[in-house]
Amino acid sequence: MLKKKFVLMMATLLTLGMLAACGSEEADGNTEDDGKVEVVTTYSIVYDIVKNVGGDMVEIHSLAPIGSNPHEYDPLPEDVKKATDADAVFYNGLNLEAGNAWFDKLMETAGKSGEDAPVFRMSEDVEPMYLTSEGNEGEEDPHAWLNIENGIQYAKNARDGLIEVDPENKDVYEKNAADYIEKLQSLHEEALAQFSEIPEKERVLVTSEGAFKYFSKAYGFQAEYIWEINQENQGTPDQITRIVDIINDKHITGLFLETSIDPRSMEAVSGETGVPIMGDVFTDSLAKPGNNGDTYITMMESNIQTIKDGLTK
Ligand SMILES: [Zn+2]
Repeated sequence: MLKKKFVLMMATLLTLGMLAACGSEEADGNTEDDGKVEVVTTYSIVYDIVKNVGGDMVEIHSLAPIGSNPHEYDPLPEDVKKATDADAVFYNGLNLEAGNAWFDKLMETAGKSGEDAPVFRMSEDVEPMYLTSEGNEGEEDPHAWLNIENGIQYAKNARDGLIEVDPENKDVYEKNAADYIEKLQSLHEEALAQFSEIPEKERVLVTSEGAFKYFSKAYGFQAEYIWEINQENQGTPDQITRIVDIINDKHITGLFLETSIDPRSMEAVSGETGVPIMGDVFTDSLAKPGNNGDTYITMMESNIQTIKDGLTK
């Protein structure tokens, strides 16, 4: 009897000891023991901005794959594990990761839904713009990063989040962020200079999804679209008729297609109006590694070039 009790006690102690070991490992944030801050990001654009600020200090797992639509995502078991183990999670906010509430559910499963959880919103302090189409009125539009000035705010938020979880490397994050922000600032000025060469009345951007609100406000464009936000029921006959009328009324000469969107609706619009598609623009995703547009900076450079060339031909 006594012996049995002893064995039980030892078993309990062993279990407690193992739990404690796991706990301290997690508290260090070094589950893989490489000393890096384990980060999870929701999609490729946030991934790249955090990567630029975190540099060698971070190991990042990004959720929605490159080329996919981050409005909707079904996390895999691997994502749940990475999110649970992560020292920090960075997401866009402004309703981007809201489809099926996939992100909120993932944070809950990963034990990161509390007020003090190390979950950082990249769009913190960005002034939101709102959807206007029927059924979506008053909802925040997520595509803030298409204005490079907002990209600068994202970089500041990445810096502050990383400093919060890894204060020892504050200097590194501050230096990386300052260098990166300088590049973004000159890219923003380059965009203003390039677009100023397009006559003002020709600055109309027609895309499938209405992702260019923040962009248009920053760079003096009018944005038109087939559907306002990626969701079910996009590219309906009513939506196609509406945009065809706008294109004819405004005598629009060029359309644009997003790299992360099924081309068929825009091809139908082009066929019906006889207005050509002038090029591919990046909105919700970077290009695959090794291709032009595989970073936030090159994606925006590519957009600036494509839009300028498309509207000045
Ligand atoms: Zn989108």
